[in-house]
Amino acid sequence: MHLTLTPLGYIESCFKEKFGIPRQPGLVQAARASLRLLPPFDRAEAVRGLDGFSHVWLIFGFHGTADGGWRPTVRPPRLGGNQRLGVFATRSTFRPNPLGLSVVRLAGIDTSHGVRLEFSGADLLDGTPIYDIKPYLPYADAITDACGGFAPDEPAIAVDIVFTPEAERHLEQASRARPQIRALVEEMLRYDPRPAYFGSSDRRKDFGVRLYEFDVKWRIDDGRAVVTALERCEA
Ligand code: SAH
Repeated sequence: MHLTLTPLGYIESCFKEKFGIPRQPGLVQAARASLRLLPPFDRAEAVRGLDGFSHVWLIFGFHGTADGGWRPTVRPPRLGGNQRLGVFATRSTFRPNPLGLSVVRLAGIDTSHGVRLEFSGADLLDGTPIYDIKPYLPYADAITDACGGFAPDEPAIAVDIVFTPEAERHLEQASRARPQIRALVEEMLRYDPRPAYFGSSDRRKDFGVRLYEFDVKWRIDDGRAVVTALERCEA
């Protein structure tokens, strides 16, 4: 059977680029995402009963990397990027069918105009197409004695975060529109997103990433992440 999938809607996420997105959901609880269902799925009855669940599974398309095709083996960042494992032994985005699977907290359901779902703890790029939503069933989905292969535990916290006085001022401004932005910056940076993206030989010290409508800038200094600015982007 060859499936044709129709997006139920597209994610609006705080993450506007791949860099900085956590490697799995749940690691950055302050990461918010929202989904407005498109017709003909935008009917309140289609989500009847969902409010009883704290978490849902999202099946989505890796639209940002789908053009890259797939490879039978990949180098998980978790292993320092120098060991190859089979694609099906990893959560690589470069898969034969570029489908992602994330469990996220269901933070809200609004059925006043169509259907809008709010999620937290998401690891999703802005614009991600969502193909299915399923309730998380603790009795079946939570397996307490499971083995985690090459990724047995959540990643270690890699850096302390400090804000310069100027960044504190920017943060105060930004928090008016985005109350959770401090938590988001702290939770995102503490895992040090660099190794997933830059080789260990990379000597750069200044980094930037877009969160919501802000360019967040930081510097790696003596094992700490020093946030220097949050600047509102043009447009
Ligand atoms: N929880 C999912 C995703 C794991 S990979 C799964 O296991 O299937 C996590 C990475 O996917 C993130 O670091 C982010 O950079 C990337 N990602 C998230 N949404 C994406 C998208 N729409 N297209 C491409 N990559 C995406």
